[in-house]
Amino acid sequence: MPQFITHLSALRLLALFALCLFVAPSAFAKFQLTPEMAGLSIMNEASVIEDANRQLTIDDIVKKDWAEFKPQEPNKTVKGMSTSAWWVMLDVENQTSLPITWVLEAIYTHTDYLNLYHIDSDGVVTMLLTGDKRAFSNRPIASESFAFPFTTAENSQEKIVMRFAYHEIGMIELSTRAWEKVAFHNHSSFTYYFYGCLFGAGLFVIIFTLIVHIPTRLPEYYWYIAYLTFVLANSLANTGLGHRFMWHDSAYLTDSAHIIITAFAFICALQFNRIFLQTKQFMPRADYLLKFLIALAISSILFYLSGYRGLSGKLLMLTSILLAVMPLIGLWAWKVLKRSDARWYVYAWSVWSVSMIVIVTRLAGVVEMSDLVLWISRMGLLLQTVLLGLALIDHVNVLRKEKQNSEDKLIASLENANTLLEEKVQARTAELELAHQEAVSMAETDVLTGIGNRRFFFSRGEEALQLAKRLEQPLSLVMIDIDHFKKINDTNGHAAGDIVIKHVAETCKQRLRSTDIHGRIGGEEFACILMGTNLDEAKIFVERLRKDIEGTAVASTLGAIKVTASFGISAMSAQDDHLEALLHRADEALYLAKSNGRNRFEFL
Ligand code: GH3
Ligand code: MG
Ligand code: MG
Repeated sequence: MPQFITHLSALRLLALFALCLFVAPSAFAKFQLTPEMAGLSIMNEASVIEDANRQLTIDDIVKKDWAEFKPQEPNKTVKGMSTSAWWVMLDVENQTSLPITWVLEAIYTHTDYLNLYHIDSDGVVTMLLTGDKRAFSNRPIASESFAFPFTTAENSQEKIVMRFAYHEIGMIELSTRAWEKVAFHNHSSFTYYFYGCLFGAGLFVIIFTLIVHIPTRLPEYYWYIAYLTFVLANSLANTGLGHRFMWHDSAYLTDSAHIIITAFAFICALQFNRIFLQTKQFMPRADYLLKFLIALAISSILFYLSGYRGLSGKLLMLTSILLAVMPLIGLWAWKVLKRSDARWYVYAWSVWSVSMIVIVTRLAGVVEMSDLVLWISRMGLLLQTVLLGLALIDHVNVLRKEKQNSEDKLIASLENANTLLEEKVQARTAELELAHQEAVSMAETDVLTGIGNRRFFFSRGEEALQLAKRLEQPLSLVMIDIDHFKKINDTNGHAAGDIVIKHVAETCKQRLRSTDIHGRIGGEEFACILMGTNLDEAKIFVERLRKDIEGTAVASTLGAIKVTASFGISAMSAQDDHLEALLHRADEALYLAKSNGRNRFEFL
């Protein structure tokens, strides 16, 4: 029994030794293949070595003391901008009882040269050469990332060695994962579907923005559309889809475009920010910062074109990190400067900042590369452009409101000015009207007596006659002439004569009705038209007036002046078409009255 035990122990030891012999070279755990693998990271089981001089060959690697390989920390797959070649070693094992068909996928699309060496259990080496600097047709699987198909027999082990390198310098990112074959194809289909939607949406936003906003002619929109276009082109470059589907034979999209396009996208975004927030007018210090960042992005392009790819990449990275201050600038505009349209702007740039943080923490090795990390960093930019689009809509609303306000103010002030003008015009018109009326009345008033003059009497008299004829009402005309007026003048002086004229005019006025017409038609001659008055009534009126004049004396410096007057009356008849006829008869009647002794009336 003890012997058996010893035997067994010896056997066990032997087995263990044999196992150690096989396992010892790697000293690392083997990556276990399963039919359930769906993007399972291999980095935990991988080991790496940096080949700074790029001199090592696969033979050197295989022969190397495996202790020289360092275990790969899963989250430190980014090795930074590097000129070295990086070797990744992996032992895979299929412990199941069935062969497993699977795909090994290196995620980072920009690697210039990616050599993969597959070493089977018999030590046979198969080499697969790919990378974006090599013909796309070389790829064992037509995929935007670098994917290699394998079938590993049941209960077998294999080794896989990968070499990542750039033509000169580039970002070394070793992230590699394993898929069961069908899972990989499903993943690819979903990815294409998703990207299809995304690019379609992106193109739609560009075309929509162009159509809807070209009429506004706001420069903000042109920068926004340029930015959006660069972001889309950049997504084509970064995802490898551009290279895969559009530009097969050139490494340009995955090799250079993602740096140059990113720099251009930054320039457009920064310029957009400056115009959108009007930083030049309202935030001069922020404006300096933005201008500085534009200069950084421009110099990144220039360095790239001059062959300083490493420096260019670092400058671009610095620019994107500094761009994370954009939400703060937006917040200032929103909260302090009370710009309501800055709200969406803040959201948009916050999304940007979050994806920047994710990218930086991934590059710094703080978080492990995963689909989520990849999506957040890629989608952040697209989501940000959509949010910026919303900010622009808000922006246009704010601008429209401002315009409306100023238009309303202008209209109000114009209306105000108009009313003022109208009031002034009305006042002026009233003044003119008054002046006109005064002029008219002055032109029709006798200066000495204040009653109507000859012109007044004739125009009103004619109107009154026409009216009376039409209404078939009676009308009479009386002519009055002061008796021996020459004598009054001669005896008492011209001034006293004037007083007498005024007195007679006043006496007439007292007797007349308001509807009657009264005027001084000559030196000491007056005429009256008596409305609605026939001949008999006119006689009565004239007799009373005659008595009034006779009965009142005019006071003067030389004593009381006795005044009498003679009257001629004519009554309107059907034949009298005009005032002339009436006047003529009244004049003749007056003449008669004078002839018949004065201080009396006659009528015709
Ligand atoms: P008769 O009774 O025939 O009418 O005699 P008379 O003196 O009134 O005659 P006549 O009509 O010829 O005289 C009018 C005079 O009236 C002539 C003129 O000197 C005078 N006279 C005319 N206008 C004025 C005036 O405005 N003021 C004064 N003081 N005298 C005037
Ligand atoms: Mg006379
Ligand atoms: Mg007279």
